[in-house]
Amino acid sequence: MRKIIKCSQCNKEFYHGAEYRVHWEEKHLSLFIKREQMEKEKLPKCDFCKEVMTYEEYEFYNICKDCLEKIV
Ligand SMILES: [Zn+2]
Ligand SMILES: [Zn+2]
Repeated sequence: MRKIIKCSQCNKEFYHGAEYRVHWEEKHLSLFIKREQMEKEKLPKCDFCKEVMTYEEYEFYNICKDCLEKIV
């Protein structure tokens, strides 16, 4: 019996992992990257250099550690 791999994104079925990987990279990878970028854009940015920061950092100073050092 052949093992069938099901695509987690669109339920298309594949017999080989390599086949599935090609499909995934062609059909879903760009979307995946786009989603990652969108997630990144939602993150707070340093008020001075616009560097992406974590929410924890941003809650404290609104500016990144590098800029904080320059100012203080
Ligand atoms: Zn798919
Ligand atoms: Zn900064």
